[in-house]
Amino acid sequence: MAVPDEPAAPVIDPRYACFRLRVGPSKIHRWGVFADEWIPPRRKVIEYTGERVSRREAKRRSQRPYVYLFELNPYWCVDGAVGGSGAELINHSCDPNLYAVIMKGHILYMSKRAIAPGEELTIDYRLDHDTDPIPCRCGAPNCRGTINLPKQDRRRQGERKSSERSERARPR
Ligand SMILES: [Zn+2]
Repeated sequence: MAVPDEPAAPVIDPRYACFRLRVGPSKIHRWGVFADEWIPPRRKVIEYTGERVSRREAKRRSQRPYVYLFELNPYWCVDGAVGGSGAELINHSCDPNLYAVIMKGHILYMSKRAIAPGEELTIDYRLDHDTDPIPCRCGAPNCRGTINLPKQDRRRQGERKSSERSERARPR
């Protein structure tokens, strides 16, 4: 299923990855990113890169079939579809093994715990509760059922994927 916006076989840009990672088919959603070696806890795993775009431009791009927008702050989003390191392929889980840290305008994906070779990397997208709910199929025992956050958890942490992402139902 070739999409003009996306290469058929995405790859990790090793300049932004701190460990050996690979892209492969995911049980969660389409492509996923997998560890190819042990990753200790609390280490920088990969930087989420892409074109920096305004919220207005992000809203426009959110109409595309596949959306890779990360909300950097109230003014800017990073679009991993353009110049993405591969981190944009990391799927959502309600029990993720990564968390995002924003440091001097860079989005760093850090390991929450030790990650074994072959494990799929996951992060909590933390979508707004007030946008269209996207069903979650992460398979975690504590799965909250949607990728969106419950109301009381909104903006508990700064890190989250752009809410625009949920305005279009993503193919699942
Ligand atoms: Zn889930």
